[in-house]
Formats: sequence, structure tokens, C-alpha cells
Amino acid sequence: MPELPEVEITCMGLKPILKKSISNIIVRNPSLRWPVPSHLKKTLPNQKILCVKRRAKYILIKFEKACLMIHLGMSGRLEILDKETPPQKHDHVDIAFHNSKNILRYTDPRRFGSIFWIDGDIKDHFLIAGLGQEPLERLFTGEYLFSKIHNKKSPIKNIIMDSHIVVGVGNIYASESLFKAGVLPSKLGKNITLNECGKIVKYIKATLKKAIKLGGSSLKDFYNVNGQSGYFQQTYNVYGRKGKPCRKCKSIIESKKIGQRSSFFCIKCQS
Ligand SMILES: [Zn+2]
Repeated sequence: MPELPEVEITCMGLKPILKKSISNIIVRNPSLRWPVPSHLKKTLPNQKILCVKRRAKYILIKFEKACLMIHLGMSGRLEILDKETPPQKHDHVDIAFHNSKNILRYTDPRRFGSIFWIDGDIKDHFLIAGLGQEPLERLFTGEYLFSKIHNKKSPIKNIIMDSHIVVGVGNIYASESLFKAGVLPSKLGKNITLNECGKIVKYIKATLKKAIKLGGSSLKDFYNVNGQSGYFQQTYNVYGRKGKPCRKCKSIIESKKIGQRSSFFCIKCQS
């Protein structure tokens, strides 16, 4: 599944279409998680792309008065391709541009993604309104995390994966960040100190930044906009390493289901 780093990389890869004006949209199959709006055929042509941003795992392609909000779902991807590239079975949407030999193609084998047209304030959209802090932004601090967790009886791993508190910390990034912070994933929110919150936040930021730099975690079917897969997974400290020696202390990495998700940790390095 594309995680926050993959979405960030996708956004960066969309730079070639900035300032381009749309000539046409072809929707071969509108049946995504929510139907692709049928009015886009009329609404999109001649709209100029001003910028591409990310909020949580939503890609926001902004125009003067509105915005396309794209989610890659479980298996989606956006690619800039030569417009002569023949569409394959799962290539559901193409967007073409004036004076360009390229198209933007949306591919999604499992069709859990979505494409919305938003002409109001994006913050009010039902999928955006309840979201917590962006992990890479300044407002996500140890103090913020502490304020959200100091009375919670749930494990810290579930808390940092809760998008109402902070967005985009998937299972891999949660396990890796908690290892670096030296905090057990099963430790309850109320037992975590402000100092530990500071470390957890620091390493969530560092882990996500590293993944972005290395091209994402690339679970089988993720490709960035140029069709290359990521290398981050080769650097995992704990995730998927059950039974292997800890890279720091050589103890055996253990695994446990927390909130139905596999969690990986070193009992010596984390407490
Ligand atoms: Zn260890």
C-alpha cells in the first residue's frame, strides 16, 4: 500500500506538469472507492495546474479555484507517460495537457483509490476535516504528542498510527520509529514521559524523511512516477525481522500483534 513517503515522492515527481493546462480527461472506469465525478470531462479542460501538495496520503492538484484530490488507495499509482503509451487493463484515468507529449495516468488494480473535485475549502472535506497533525511539519512536537496521550490506556504504537492524532505513520514507520526511540510498542500512552514523546516524534520525522530520500518502502506494487521501486525496506531495523539479531545489541527481534497489526521490537533496546 502506498504510504506517506510514496505519496510525497509521487507529489515531487509531478513537477513536470506544474503550470500545464489540461486539454482533456479520459475516464475508462469511474468505479473507484468513490465514483470519479462525471462532470470532470467538462470541468477540467483549460484548468491550469498551480501547485501539487500533499495532506496525509491525499495528493492535491491545485487550480485557481478548485482542486483535484487523489488517493492511491491500496494499489494505485500516478505516472507521467508519453501520450502514445497504450492503456493497460487497470489504467482507469488519463489527463492530457495542451502543448505536451505527456499524460498523467492513474492506475489502480484494486480500485480502492479515489479522485475528488473540491471547489470549497479543502479543510472542510469529510475525508480531511478530522485529520491530525502532519508528521513532518513543525506543529508535530513532543509536547503535542504528550498532550494527546498522557491519559490514554492504549499502546503507544496504536496512538501514533491514529490519523486523528498524526497522519501517515503506517505500521512499518511506527515499528521503526519506536525502535529508534527505545520505546516498546506495547507501552501504554499514559506511561510515556514527555522526554520519550520528544524522542518518538524526532524518530518518526527521521524515519519518514529517510524513507522519502530512499524512495519509499515499496511493498511489491509501489512504483514512483518514473516506475522505479524504493530501497527503504532494505534498511529496516526491526520490521519483518522476527527471529533475526538486533542490529544494535544482537538480541533476537520479537514480534507481537498489537491492535491486529504485527509489531516488531527488541526487548533489550526498548522499554
Ligand atoms: Zn537490541
